[in-house]
Amino acid sequence: MKRHCCENMTYHANFECKIHENHFECPDKIIIFDRKNNDYGLIIHDGVTSSISISFCPWCGSKL
Ligand SMILES: [Zn+2]
Ligand SMILES: [Zn+2]
Repeated sequence: MKRHCCENMTYHANFECKIHENHFECPDKIIIFDRKNNDYGLIIHDGVTSSISISFCPWCGSKL
């Protein structure tokens, strides 16, 4: 399993909701991690499936 920069990121990147199958529908899911591209994204909960890709960790500030 990939190591993330800090505990917060590990928690959120691996977070799987048991209620919402679609990550974009879950208000608790805020970070999406694309294993293929090694890319982190911040989910925007505005009703459409959008996310912005982030280069720095919002918790510890590490470069991702
Ligand atoms: Zn971090
Ligand atoms: Zn949920």
